[in-house]
Amino acid sequence: MDVHLENAMSTVPNIIVVAHRPNYNLCMQQLQAFKFELRPDGQQERQMRRFAGSCRFVFNEALALQKERYEQGEKKLGYAGLCKLLTEWRKGPETPWLADAPTHPLQQTLKDLERAYANFFAKRADFPRFKKKGQSDSFRYPDPKQIKLDQGNSRIFLPKLGWVRYRNSRKVVGEVRNATVSLSGGRWHVSIQTRQEVEDPRHPARSIVGMDMGVACFAALSSGEIIAPASALQKRQRQLARAQRAMSRKVKFSNNWKKAKARIQRIHTRIGHARRDFLHKTSTAISQNHAVVVIEDLQVRNMSKSAAGTVHLPGRNVRAKSSLNRSILDHGWAEFRRQLEYKQTWRGGMVIAVNPRNTSRMCPACGHVDKANRKTQARFKCVACGHTAHADVNAANNVLAAGHAVMACGGDVRPHPHLGVGTAAPMKQEPTEATQIASAN
Ligand SMILES: [Zn+2]
Repeated sequence: MDVHLENAMSTVPNIIVVAHRPNYNLCMQQLQAFKFELRPDGQQERQMRRFAGSCRFVFNEALALQKERYEQGEKKLGYAGLCKLLTEWRKGPETPWLADAPTHPLQQTLKDLERAYANFFAKRADFPRFKKKGQSDSFRYPDPKQIKLDQGNSRIFLPKLGWVRYRNSRKVVGEVRNATVSLSGGRWHVSIQTRQEVEDPRHPARSIVGMDMGVACFAALSSGEIIAPASALQKRQRQLARAQRAMSRKVKFSNNWKKAKARIQRIHTRIGHARRDFLHKTSTAISQNHAVVVIEDLQVRNMSKSAAGTVHLPGRNVRAKSSLNRSILDHGWAEFRRQLEYKQTWRGGMVIAVNPRNTSRMCPACGHVDKANRKTQARFKCVACGHTAHADVNAANNVLAAGHAVMACGGDVRPHPHLGVGTAAPMKQEPTEATQIASAN
């Protein structure tokens, strides 16, 4: 075997993720979330603020306690222990207002803290941080028995809030599982998660495609298609920079400064919407056209972290890297992958993630791996055999080849629902969303 080919094959054992598919007989459980803007009256709005505040308080109290225990060499309290404490706080003389908030959302906050710790220990996230007012103000009702949804009258019943009206933009399907109330951009929303059994779908397409995520362009497909980044985002980015400069010229905490700050907040919200819209449209289109999508298993989190470095080891190339990072985050790769995975699951297709090593340097014609193969961002020219191609499309073809290799090793090339590929255990399906902004699911 050729040395270079061997090199290419060595990527095979490093598969990380295979399509997420629960193993049900003929049905698949579909989790879906429907997000609506709430239209609370004044009293309800005040209560929602208070409830979110109570949840934040409980989260921060519990986190402070765990930190203290850690410093004193004591074991971390478990969820049950924390719940017991919560009951004491609710009855205690110092925080009587906690008793006004609904119990379940407060307990859910403790669950969130547990999860934050678990993610930290599994190295999926940073150490849990204290919550600040105005940052992800939200609370969750976990018990479907306490939630009533009256779609005909566009209202939802939530404990201690009563009937709250909402902007009914689409029909909620499935059985309600839980509801999360949150504040963003100065408006309250409810996200209703549902579950329903659907028949195991078969993907209408039979094709397989490789995908290379780029910096200059959003992505390139092995079929030769190039997906440009959302121009709306770049326009907003410029707006944002201008607004930030304007704010820096104002006297801090003055009225004009506050106005400028509110404007920045609005632009951030719009950037968020534009990004979501772009990601949903793109992931839907790709998922509709291809039964199997092979992507690179990029560690986006690591890539966007490394730039700043630490005090002892300052990052090199900070400026160049941070602009790359900004463009990575702009593009929202992690979110894109999540969407692509659940959309493929719904359609009966799959996503295969392969090791990204050498995908941009390898020649698909002769297998030669060389940095010199890619002298410029745009062109690929093999120094061994002279093969030339569009650099990103070339990388996408290498990704596709790696995907074929994975499927060959897994024993089944067809995206069959009950066989799957590779070794990963069926994972819990991620909740998915369908909101007003993203209707194209
Ligand atoms: Zn070559």
